[in-house]
Amino acid sequence: MATGWGSLLQDEQQLEELARQAVDRALAEGVLLRTSQAPSSSDVVSYAPFTLFPSRVPSALLEQAYAVQVDFNLLVDAVSQNAVFLERTLSSTIKRDSFTARLFDIHKQVLKEGIAQTVFLGLNRSDYMFQCTPDGSAALKQIEINTISASFGGLASRTPAVHRHVLSVLGKTKEAAKILSNNPSKGLAMGIAKAWELYGSANAQVLLIAQEKERNIFDQRAIENELLARNIHVIRRRFEDVSEKGSLDQDRRLFMDGQEIAVVYFRDGYMPSHYSLQNWEARLLLERSCAAKCPDIATQLAGTKKVQQELSRVGVLESLLPGQPEAVARLRATFAGLYSLDLGEEGDQAITKAIAAPSSFVLKPQREGGGNNLYGEEMVQSLERLKDSEERASYILMEKIEPEPFKNCLLRPGSPARVVQCISELGIFGVYVREGKTLVMNKHVGHLLRTKAIEHADGGVAAGVAVLDNPYPV
Ligand code: ADP
Ligand code: MG
Repeated sequence: MATGWGSLLQDEQQLEELARQAVDRALAEGVLLRTSQAPSSSDVVSYAPFTLFPSRVPSALLEQAYAVQVDFNLLVDAVSQNAVFLERTLSSTIKRDSFTARLFDIHKQVLKEGIAQTVFLGLNRSDYMFQCTPDGSAALKQIEINTISASFGGLASRTPAVHRHVLSVLGKTKEAAKILSNNPSKGLAMGIAKAWELYGSANAQVLLIAQEKERNIFDQRAIENELLARNIHVIRRRFEDVSEKGSLDQDRRLFMDGQEIAVVYFRDGYMPSHYSLQNWEARLLLERSCAAKCPDIATQLAGTKKVQQELSRVGVLESLLPGQPEAVARLRATFAGLYSLDLGEEGDQAITKAIAAPSSFVLKPQREGGGNNLYGEEMVQSLERLKDSEERASYILMEKIEPEPFKNCLLRPGSPARVVQCISELGIFGVYVREGKTLVMNKHVGHLLRTKAIEHADGGVAAGVAVLDNPYPV
C-alpha cells in the first residue's frame, strides 16, 4: 500500500500552506478537542490531531469489515447473555485481576437479583489492522472490539470535509470525491433513540455518564445533538452525581434528580482509575435498574481481551452462534493468533514462543484506553517474571499484526507538521437493540480510521499517539 501522495509529501513549503488550510477547515468543521491544560472547559479549544492526507485502504477490506460488523454485534450480544460462558472464561482472570473481578461481581449480583432491564443496547466499535501477507496483499485482522465508550464517532463525521478540502486545493477533485461520507454519531444516536422508544416512557431521559475532565466532549455532543433533534433529552452526570442523587423506585425504575431515565450511556467507567468505592456503588445502582444500559455489565465483560482470546478457540464461535456457519466463517477470518496464558501446558508453550520471537507477539492485560500492552524486550521481561505465577492468567498473548508502513503527514496543535512512516487502524461502529429475546436492530453505522507513526507500538487518539484520518479506497 504505497501512499500515492509521494511527491506531495516532499514539497515542504506546499505542505506548510496545505497544513494551515487543513487546520482552519478542521476548526471550522468542528474537529475539536478541549486542551490538556483546561480539560473541563470549552473556553479555549483546539483541533483534534489528524493526517494531512487520507490514507489508502483496500476497498475489499473496508467492505469485509463492514460486512462482518453485524456478525460481531450478534456475537457480543450472544456472549453477554451467556452467563455460563462468561463465568468459565473469566474464572482464572478474576482471581488475579481486581478490576475485572469487580465488574464480574456486579454481574453476579445483578443475575442473582434478576435482570430488571428488558431493552438491551449495544454501541460498539470493532478495530482492525491490515496484516501484510507473504504474497504482498493485505488481510483484515481484528485488534479488539470496544463494547464500552467506543469514541470518535462524532469527530469522524467531520473529517471527510477536511480531506476533501485539502485535495480540492490541490485541484484533485476526482480524488476528493472518493473520500467516503461517514456519520457514525447519527447511527449511534439512532440506536439510543430506539432503546429510548422501546423503554416506553415519553418523559424519560437519557443519562450520559461523563467524566469531569473530558477533552473529547465535542465527540459526545454530536450524539447528544442528534438525540435532541429527535426531542430526546440527554443529561450529563458523573458517577459521583449518581451516588448522591440517583435512586430506584420499587420497580427498579431509575431516577436522577427526580427525572426518570430510559437509557444510560457510559462514556466513563472502563478503567480502574474511573472508580472510587462510591463510584462502584453508583455503577451497581445503575446496573440493578430497568433502564437500558449501554453497555450493561455483561456486555462490558464480553468486550474483555480474555473473552476475545477464548472466542478464537476451536468450536467456541460455533457453540455461541449455532446454525450460523457463514457468520462464523466471516468472524473467524478476521481473527489473529490469540493465546491463553492460564497456568498449564498451553500457556507454557505460548510463553516459550513469545520469548523466542518477541517481535511477533503483544502481551495484553485486561485494560482499555491504550498504552497498557507490552511489546518486545519489555514483554519478554514481564513474561519471565510472570511465568511461574497465577498472575499470568490476567493477561493474554496476541500475534502482532504487521501492516505495511506508508508515509503521511501528521498535524498536531503546537507541533510542526511531520512527515513520517505510518500505520493505520480501521474501526467499524456497530449498533444493535434487543427487546427481551428479539433483536430489533442490528447495523453498522460508519467507520473511523486512525493513523500513527510506526515508532509508537500502542495508543489511540485520546492517548496522544494516533491521529484522525480517512480511508482513501483503492
Ligand atoms: P486498548 O483497549 O488499550 O485500546 P488494544 O488492544 O486496542 O487495547 O491495543 C492498543 C493499541 O495497541 C492498538 O490501537 C494498536 O495500535 C496496538 N496493538 C494492539 N494489538 C496489536 C496487535 N496484535 N498487533 C499490532 N498492534 C497491536
Ligand atoms: Mg483499542
